[in-house]
Amino acid sequence: MQDLKTLTIPEFKQALTKTDKIVIIPHKNPDGDAIGSSLGLYHYLKELNKDCTVVINDAVPEFLKFLPNIDKIQIFEENPELCSKLVAEAELIFCLDYAQTHRSGALESHILSSKALKAVVDHHPGPDDNFDFYHHEVASSSTCELIYDLISKMEKDYSFSKQVAVCLYTGLVTDTGCFKHALRPHTFIVASELLKSGISYEMIVSNIYDVNTPERLKLIGFALNERMVVLPEYRTAYISMSYEDSERLGLKKGDTEGLVNYALSIQNMVIGAFFHEREKGKTKISLRSKGTFAVNELSGKYFGGGGHRNAAGGEFPEDSNAAVAKFIEVLPQYKTELASLEIGKRD
Ligand code: 5GP
Ligand code: MN
Repeated sequence: MQDLKTLTIPEFKQALTKTDKIVIIPHKNPDGDAIGSSLGLYHYLKELNKDCTVVINDAVPEFLKFLPNIDKIQIFEENPELCSKLVAEAELIFCLDYAQTHRSGALESHILSSKALKAVVDHHPGPDDNFDFYHHEVASSSTCELIYDLISKMEKDYSFSKQVAVCLYTGLVTDTGCFKHALRPHTFIVASELLKSGISYEMIVSNIYDVNTPERLKLIGFALNERMVVLPEYRTAYISMSYEDSERLGLKKGDTEGLVNYALSIQNMVIGAFFHEREKGKTKISLRSKGTFAVNELSGKYFGGGGHRNAAGGEFPEDSNAAVAKFIEVLPQYKTELASLEIGKRD
């Protein structure tokens, strides 16, 4: 646990008891862990009869719409007045699944100017010092795992309701790629405890993963056939989509989700990358790696981004060809590390 100026869990629990108006803010461009942890905590706080709202910068991805009360989330881009008011009037703000306030998007200035007590629950490296309470652990699989831990530590013998459990289980599934990476033994204990609530893991996994449309499968086919490059000497494979591709294919946010994993799944690869020029002259980058190779460091150094060791992202202020060229320019300095990396060996 991070040792920063911070309330202890019992002190935080006491503060929570005294507050009524609570706002939960997941990161912008939310994923399953951001939404799962926010709604899981929301349902728990509702059980405590708190006046609680989840407020987010931008829209929730379609594949998470099965989560209970997802329609109660307030979206800043759609309703800035209400969202600003909720944040301004909150007595307690939770920031979930990020530890640097800028990852909340346009809500950052509202968080910083609010007088509320600020709590962060997260597993990304490098938290900033804008918070009063930190429940932060990089070794945790997901923020959902940390929400489980926090509730369990605050309330001995708490019995997780189905509503809380279905949300938290979703974040465990999505942040570990269906229990494939970023795991520790404790993650399985948490999963097991959540399943005891009676939720159906088959329903959850099916809602998350069995959502392909014929169009999406064709997009994957196009990306793999026409836009993937393998660099065996760097154990790297990447896919890039230009702005023209995005326009021609009518790509919407979320359509390219998971493409980067196909690149990484090629035998012997250590890095998988996906370059997407979503806006003209601006390229979003997704990086994945295996073992000890730290893509968050690479991303921080060259693409103004960050994330986890094996799953990171960033941006490049030029078109996709320029972003790819930058990537190829920096790869040689990692050649020895990439060549010698043993897949499956952790630290
Ligand atoms: P994805 O590739 O799925 O968009 O992101 C993977 C991980 O990288 C996420 O968990 C997120 O924390 C991190 N990430 C993605 N984009 C950025 C970015 O632009 N800046 C930072 N700091 N982290 C990012
Ligand atoms: Mn997460």
